[in-house]
Amino acid sequence: MEIALKPLGSTDSETTEEIRKRLNHLLGCPVRMKPGFDQLAYAYDSRRKQYLSSMLIASLNALGKERDEKVLGIADVDLYVPRLNFVFGEADISSGMAVISLCRLRPEFYGLPPDNSLFLDRATKEAVHELGHTLGLGHCSDAKCVMHFSNCLADTDLKQAAFCGKCRPRVV
Ligand SMILES: [Zn+2]
Ligand SMILES: [Zn+2]
Repeated sequence: MEIALKPLGSTDSETTEEIRKRLNHLLGCPVRMKPGFDQLAYAYDSRRKQYLSSMLIASLNALGKERDEKVLGIADVDLYVPRLNFVFGEADISSGMAVISLCRLRPEFYGLPPDNSLFLDRATKEAVHELGHTLGLGHCSDAKCVMHFSNCLADTDLKQAAFCGKCRPRVV
C-alpha cells in the first residue's frame, strides 16, 4: 500500500510535510505528496460559507490513482455534508479516497491561543482516521482508538493517533 497526500486549495507546505512524515511513521508505508488542485470554488456553498466535502472527493476521484494507492486530500477550508453543521473529514471506502479539513483543528478557530503541536496532533489523528476508513475500518468503541468517532475536538484530543489492538491487525 502507498498513500498519496494531495493539497486542495491553499495549504501550508510545512504542515502537510509534517503530516506526511507522521503518517509514514504511524502506518509504516510510503507516503508521498502529489499535486491536488487549486480551485475549490465549485464546491463552495455561499449560504453556508462552507465547502461540500463529497464534491472534493469526487474531484480527487477524477484525478485517478495508482492501483495500490489510497488518496487523502488536505484542505484548509471548512467542510460540510448535508444535514451536518460541519465535518472534520470524509472518506469513500469504495474508491479509496478521503479528505480532511484543517480549518477547525486550530485553537485559534475557537478564539484560543495558537498551539501548533496540538494542531498537528489533531491533523494527524484526523488523517489516520479517514485513511482507516479507506482501509475498510468502521468506527471503534474504544475512546482511545484513532477510529473512535470524533463528535467534537474533545473526542479527538482524547484519542491517540494509533489504531487499538482490535483495529490494527485489520489494516496491516
Ligand atoms: Zn469516521
Ligand atoms: Zn479500534
